Amino acid sequence: MKRILTGDRPTGKLHIGHYFGSLQTRVKLQNSGEYEPFIEIADVQALTDNFNNPEKVRKNVREVAKDYLSVGIDPEKTTIFVQSMIPEIAELTVFYSNLVTIARLERNPTVKTEIAQKKDLFGESVTYGFLGYPVSQAADITAFEGEIIPVGEDQEPLIEQCREIVRKFNSIYGEGILKEPKAELSKSARIKGLDGNDKMGKSLGNAIYLSDSDDEITKKVMSAVTDPNRIRKDDIGNPDICMVYYYHKLFSNEEACKKCHKECMAGERGCVACKKELSNNIIEFLKPIKEKRAYYDAHPEEVDRILREGTEKARKVAKETMKKVKEAMMLNYFE
Ligand code: SF4
Repeated sequence: MKRILTGDRPTGKLHIGHYFGSLQTRVKLQNSGEYEPFIEIADVQALTDNFNNPEKVRKNVREVAKDYLSVGIDPEKTTIFVQSMIPEIAELTVFYSNLVTIARLERNPTVKTEIAQKKDLFGESVTYGFLGYPVSQAADITAFEGEIIPVGEDQEPLIEQCREIVRKFNSIYGEGILKEPKAELSKSARIKGLDGNDKMGKSLGNAIYLSDSDDEITKKVMSAVTDPNRIRKDDIGNPDICMVYYYHKLFSNEEACKKCHKECMAGERGCVACKKELSNNIIEFLKPIKEKRAYYDAHPEEVDRILREGTEKARKVAKETMKKVKEAMMLNYFE
């Protein structure tokens, strides 16, 4: 079975953008029975831009794990592991760092964009760790011989960089030692924020989290951006520029969406009622996810057991890869 590797940086709880963007796909791939999925909680990578806030990363490792379990990631089918507990990944990162030039890392479009977004943290001078995170990601993928890597378009350059590292490694140390991964472009769309921003995120304050309370959901939906030209209930509206209608398409059934569109365009629907209907539908949609989460909130020892067992299983795989790598690099001195 082909191995699939995915993961998240534990810098915050996961939101509905993650749900529609990647979590749904992971559950589908897991349940297809065609793959052997691994999910990495990338705490070391999270530290590259949160090195001054280790408490935040530590706390979110378990929060992200609970998000996975509550959306249907099944630890019997998917190996969930913690990156920092696999020292082989750090070792591989060091070995691979000789195979990548600084200029190549600086040219990586994903890295370039992210550095620009983190100007507040890095100023004019980015750290070696952040610039090099694609190398650490190549180590993540190859440690588990990940063959299929589901990614969004913006992450594709990272997989290309990993493929280059694999080819270079194999050409120097022996063909076929490392497996070359393939990026599988995710068909799921990126979900916009409640404010209409293309990106949903904590720092933007425009996200609904999978673990938000009903009141938080209602409050957030009430603040969503609507058609600005609509002042009174009987004003003719344009639902296609309204974030409430955008979310209705994700959370409300077809009939409700059609009714919303028609009534808005005819000036027969109030925005407050429209938002109330939407928040009720989101609350209903998230109900089973939140029920599962409540179970894991009440059983933290079970979350820890799942993470420990997943990490032990992942470590075994990484050790096998490391054995091959060290033999190929002639670093197997005392065996
Ligand atoms: Fe948006 Fe609904 Fe108001 Fe129309 S009625 S502008 S779809 S919130």
